Amino acid sequence: MADKTVFTPDMKFVRELREAGADTMKKCYQCATCSVVCPLSPDDKPFPRKEMVMAQWGLKDELVKSADIWLCHNCNDCSKYCPRGAKPGDVLSILRKSVIQENAFPKFMGKIAGDPKNIWQALAIPVVLYIIVLAVTGHLGIPEGEVVFSKFFPVHYIDQIFVPLSALAVLMFAISISRFWKNLGGSSEMKPKAAFLPSFIETLKEIMTHAKFRKCDESKDRAVAHMLVFYGFIGLAITTAWAVFNLYVLQWESPYPANDPDIVALFGGSETVPMIIRVVFKIFANISAVALLAGGGLVIANRLKERGVETVTSTFDWVFAGMVLLVGATGMLAQMFRVLDFATIAYLTYFMHLVFVFYIIIYIPYSKLAHFVYRTVAITYTKMLQRDVEM
Ligand code: SF4
Ligand code: SF4
Repeated sequence: MADKTVFTPDMKFVRELREAGADTMKKCYQCATCSVVCPLSPDDKPFPRKEMVMAQWGLKDELVKSADIWLCHNCNDCSKYCPRGAKPGDVLSILRKSVIQENAFPKFMGKIAGDPKNIWQALAIPVVLYIIVLAVTGHLGIPEGEVVFSKFFPVHYIDQIFVPLSALAVLMFAISISRFWKNLGGSSEMKPKAAFLPSFIETLKEIMTHAKFRKCDESKDRAVAHMLVFYGFIGLAITTAWAVFNLYVLQWESPYPANDPDIVALFGGSETVPMIIRVVFKIFANISAVALLAGGGLVIANRLKERGVETVTSTFDWVFAGMVLLVGATGMLAQMFRVLDFATIAYLTYFMHLVFVFYIIIYIPYSKLAHFVYRTVAITYTKMLQRDVEM
């Protein structure tokens, strides 16, 4: 007798998907047009038709093990051609969010930071934390005189908050990703045919060039927006690493006591540091911030353009796009108000900037940014299996 496969539908999961915006999945009648038009779907077991029926049936256990939902780049070519308006591109996007929450460690953080309904609680955590730190250290108030951000919130207090919390976030993320990797391993009867490292390098090349993004017909503009945000973040991460290295490892002293120590620390403050290096990092940081802002703006513009046609943008995506813009905008405005010597508004904007930076960095294992790591892992795994991915 043939082996029977028993599926256990999870109706709570179906309800959650529908509440998150995937209600259109019920319209799918399995015609497979979406899998045919998808430019990224492999010939072997193509997506997203099968994921649509799995979502309709509430097969959560199968979906959390799926690498395929991460091969989708949300271009929405499939949604454009779906004869039923079932919006498969959006359904896959919501499934990815659910997988992040499912693998999140600890789970309650996945719920707080991953659910847009909790955005105020998520933002309240850094606000309360900062106020406590400022109150305890006697910095709660607007400093007199020239606007210097470190007089308001000393850099070493910021580091003492961010360094341990970032390390904790990395640890939580590593646990979440190891769960995901284990799930992927249990998802397929196929044994990996390629080694991890070459598959990983191949994946990184693909991601750096956004090769897959550019295969989509429907929303090619997204590749540019995504690239700007992607490289903006990388640029700012490099600049921050430089600041930390400069401050704590090289311990260069500032030759500019009258200048803003934040800026001096950020761009290299020692006479031993050649001016050219300071200038290069300054330019690099500003270009990265502009790329982030421009990319965030383009993401929002593209989503507004798409709205109501073949796709809906989930609140989760809106929140992330909004946060990217807010980080860039408050950072630049804080600098501008400082130069103009508008003390109160400069310090308040800087405070808000730190709140949004906290949201982006510390909640990274549960946010839209986590997609980057989940997707990298899933594509690497797929390459190890050497599935027939359409090129
Ligand atoms: S999502 Fe649309 S195109 Fe895809 S199988 Fe269902 S009805 Fe057909
Ligand atoms: S959104 Fe684009 S990549 Fe994703 S399944 Fe649809 S067509 Fe394929």
